[in-house]
Amino acid sequence: MSQNQLFIKILRDSNYSATKARLFVFDLLLKATGPQTMHQLIEASKGIIDRVSVYRVIELYEKLGIAQRINIGWKYKIELSDIFLEHHHHMTCLGCGRVIAVKDDPAFEAMINRLGETHGFVLKQHQLEMQGYCDRCGQGHVS
Ligand SMILES: [Zn+2]
Ligand SMILES: [Zn+2]
Repeated sequence: MSQNQLFIKILRDSNYSATKARLFVFDLLLKATGPQTMHQLIEASKGIIDRVSVYRVIELYEKLGIAQRINIGWKYKIELSDIFLEHHHHMTCLGCGRVIAVKDDPAFEAMINRLGETHGFVLKQHQLEMQGYCDRCGQGHVS
């Protein structure tokens, strides 16, 4: 199943149709090079979908698990969930706001699952957000 087919299936399974707005925003997220701010999504939708609709579509995606929110302090960015992207973690720069996707480390994943077992938990998903300063902003913040 292609990512588009999977997306349409998730909508249909919850009795939502694949409207032009929903397809457009999905495509934006799919082609994006990284997590997007609402501002970026709204800008990229200009002339095609209005601001309110973009917010509504994202709200629906979060509800259906199509997209997820990455919290960066009091702000957030949006990206497609792990069913569309390969599982990864984020490092966010507190200086410039850059979000770097970190590929999974099997040892780390195993440790997370062990941690779950310790608490009688069968883990289904997790998110890990790391914050600090990137190589461009690092100077002056190194302790
Ligand atoms: Zn930075
Ligand atoms: Zn992980």
